[in-house]
Amino acid sequence: MHFTQRLSQVVPSVTLEITAKAKKMREEGVDVCSFTAGEPDFPTPPHIVQAAKQALDDGKTRYGPAAGEPALRAAIAAKLRRDNQLPYEAQNILVTNGGKQSLFNLMLALIEQGDEVIIPAPYWLSYPEMVRLAEGAPVIVPTTAQADYKVTPEQLRQAITPKTKLFVLNSPSNPTGAVYSPEEIRALAEVVIERDIWVVSDEIYEKILYDGAQHLSIGAASPQAFAKTIISNGFAKSYSMTGWRVGYLAGSPELIKACANIQGHSTSNVCTFAQYGALAALEGSQDCVTEMVAAFAQRRRVMAEGINQIPGLSCPTPFGAFYVFVDVSKTGLTSLQFSDALLERQQVAVIPGIAFGDDQCIRLSYATDLETIKTGLARLGAFVSSL
Ligand code: GLU
Repeated sequence: MHFTQRLSQVVPSVTLEITAKAKKMREEGVDVCSFTAGEPDFPTPPHIVQAAKQALDDGKTRYGPAAGEPALRAAIAAKLRRDNQLPYEAQNILVTNGGKQSLFNLMLALIEQGDEVIIPAPYWLSYPEMVRLAEGAPVIVPTTAQADYKVTPEQLRQAITPKTKLFVLNSPSNPTGAVYSPEEIRALAEVVIERDIWVVSDEIYEKILYDGAQHLSIGAASPQAFAKTIISNGFAKSYSMTGWRVGYLAGSPELIKACANIQGHSTSNVCTFAQYGALAALEGSQDCVTEMVAAFAQRRRVMAEGINQIPGLSCPTPFGAFYVFVDVSKTGLTSLQFSDALLERQQVAVIPGIAFGDDQCIRLSYATDLETIKTGLARLGAFVSSL
């Protein structure tokens, strides 16, 4: 069968593939330590589950508006005003199948052949593929561990050409855990305004912060920045709702209408009763988020300290999300060779950095229990010393 040119350049999601492989090995009885997908190991908080059950009992099982349940759109807008100082109303919100679909819709609505989209590397692996599926051109701007994997205003300025349409910003970052300070965000906002490009801010990890790190949405940097900003976010990471598939896009009413049009012809509304769970997540107590972040903080310390004690491996301290991005280049192996051999010889599953645009590193998610982290670190140390 002949597939489209558009698809020929797109590679499958390595995070999902390796996660599935590790799960399968475990089902087959292999004792695997998995640090693969960024998926909190906690159950979804009970009040959220209860709200979805209630919605089922109440018959919320029908088609809904493609853009989302009106009550959820209003609650998301209220959250963005309250938590992020972004003056949105319900009409600015599109409820999507996870954060992933919010970005996918956006690319289809905004990007056409030849449009350039600036993506700092290391990046979440789906960004460039989504741009390619929209027939745009990803422009990758590399960053370094020395710069805490953050793009500078100068780098951004230099990457912009007359074809640049969009800049993808992700803070806290997947895969590095880097968090841009409010000053750094403001400086990037200046470039966006000066060069009159769009910025999409992927804020899915905004609540997962450590050591007093602060999250400033680039849209809150100034009214001019707000006019150029589109927000992508979701419930998966903050509320341990990965399988629910509820995310959202926030932007101008015309953009939201355009994306709702795309969604209306692809998936229609997000699962109706799942949206009522999301509503409870926003309206209920936020203690569950605080508790999960406290657990991540402890795991992060054990993980980052443990990695940096292994001769030949190093990682910067992450200030957000739940990943460490570990430099393995001193072993002389590529990220794929390292990951494959580690899984084969020590049954430790990690994601090779090549998937995120950096072949010197591997990504480990510490959204897993402390016991697995400790065992995994011991196996990782044994693996490196055996090389
Ligand atoms: N975003 C998560 C990760 O990077 C989930 C997997 C995926 O969709 O890529 O691990």
